[in-house]
Amino acid sequence: MQPWSQEEVERYRRQFSLNDVGEAGQYKLKMSSVLVVGAGGLGCPVLQYLAAAGVGTLGVIDADNVELSNLHRQLLFSTEDVGQPKASKAQEHLHRLNPHIQLKVFTERLTHENVEKMLSPFDIVVDGTDNFASKYLINDACRLFNKPLVTAAVQEFSGQVSLFSGAQGPCYRCAFPAPTPLELAPSCADAGILGVTPGLAGLLQAAEVIKWILGTGDSLQDKLLLFDLSKMQQQLLSLNRDPECILCGDHPTIHSIKASQEWINKNVIECTVPQEDARNVSVQSIYPQWQQGQCTIIDVRSHEEFAAGSVAGAKNVSLQKLHDPDVIAELRHLSRTQQLIVMCQRGGRSQRAVQILGHNNVVSKSLLGGYDAWLRHASQA
Ligand SMILES: [Zn+2]
Repeated sequence: MQPWSQEEVERYRRQFSLNDVGEAGQYKLKMSSVLVVGAGGLGCPVLQYLAAAGVGTLGVIDADNVELSNLHRQLLFSTEDVGQPKASKAQEHLHRLNPHIQLKVFTERLTHENVEKMLSPFDIVVDGTDNFASKYLINDACRLFNKPLVTAAVQEFSGQVSLFSGAQGPCYRCAFPAPTPLELAPSCADAGILGVTPGLAGLLQAAEVIKWILGTGDSLQDKLLLFDLSKMQQQLLSLNRDPECILCGDHPTIHSIKASQEWINKNVIECTVPQEDARNVSVQSIYPQWQQGQCTIIDVRSHEEFAAGSVAGAKNVSLQKLHDPDVIAELRHLSRTQQLIVMCQRGGRSQRAVQILGHNNVVSKSLLGGYDAWLRHASQA
């Protein structure tokens, strides 16, 4: 065991005196390397506490710049950092916090092409991202390359934290086999968030990393911790490996990062059009007009979906029927007197439908969030 400098002895004095850490534990921390994906609301506290605790090597991946609206929850940064790259600013601040650690920063995005190279030098991975494409990619890579993963997600006042071993037991996909509907996805709705929510989730992630390295305490491995700060409630759920899981189940279909990316491309609709614009409208905007009979809802879901529940007065024209010239002609005629609002279940197919109609000179708008968003709004209206 290498001797500690006087500075380090003093710096870590309160950890040296902990039974669960001591000099041996501090040495384990020093010899460990942790990769934190995302230096945002989750990543900031993770990085700050791991750096302060003396984790020897910290990796930071973040391609974004600091924005003013980040500062209420990303306390690693300050006002003068606005507009600067997060990764390099994180490096600067963390080095000032603890000059005894190594920092490896990456200002590029984590992709299926670089994920293996990024993950391989590190012992454990922390997911501090806020979108499903990244979460599935990180989960799949950790499983395929056998890296423990501490993951978290937050929204408004509530959060969740889990640890997956990488080698066995369940994975993130076992708990979340499909992404949350588009409008509920964490980064999609531009949802409000209390600064302390990711702060707390990030602290829990940091605690899990430290305990994992030290091999001490009861961890969140194969568990899902849910907390709600508005009600001050928490729940601890046990997770089991799902035999049907396409990654870690009995008959997996994802055997490579390439297959993972193909699944993500097919199943995760990124929220590139979350805002209202010429082709997209929210339920909140259109609902009063619908109540006054000023628009017609075109529901492009299947007959079965439509029969299971639909908006009063909506016309069911499944996506396939939009290739029928007679149907197009009828819709074009209707669009001369009525605003056409195209709806599906979650807002994905309706965007495609609006495109098809547009190519046929029929003006329409896609309903953001689809029938699910409509139902939620109607129940509150
Ligand atoms: Zn799984």
